[in-house]
Amino acid sequence: MACETCGSHNVTRRDVEGHLLFECNLCGALEGDDQAIARVYDLRRGRERGFDDAISPLALALESAEVFRIVQATGGDPQSNEAPALMFRLTKNDNAYIERLLRSIELANRKTRLRWLIELSLQNSIVYILRPRFWRPPSEIGPEDIEVAIKDLRQLATQLRRDLALSWWR
Ligand SMILES: [Zn+2]
Repeated sequence: MACETCGSHNVTRRDVEGHLLFECNLCGALEGDDQAIARVYDLRRGRERGFDDAISPLALALESAEVFRIVQATGGDPQSNEAPALMFRLTKNDNAYIERLLRSIELANRKTRLRWLIELSLQNSIVYILRPRFWRPPSEIGPEDIEVAIKDLRQLATQLRRDLALSWWR
């Protein structure tokens, strides 16, 4: 088998980020299942941006709407009891995009374990913070709660990506 990108025959089938793919040892191009390759490239793109793997798909999906700028993406860490959160600004002065995002979050909330909400904070201009609600005082939130929140991130990313392709988002 030859690499479709550079023509090299030095291609190996291996596990790439949990997906069995063909990887060219010369140019690094990947071949195999398109969806798996897209996920691998997303992970790598997210890492280049400094996003944790857990929040990378959601952060990239949000940015792909081209009206939000990520200020901070926290993937969450059960050991330090840090909940995942996505802080962002709106780059277009148009609340309709927040409305659309809220609608997507509402749809995702039917499938997530926790309820996710968007908080507003004033830092020179308005900063939006997407975060889970734990329904208990911060002192009682444990690593298992954080793990549940981290698992929800995938659902949120899937929902947002799906919605962004629909007419009501554009
Ligand atoms: Zn190649």
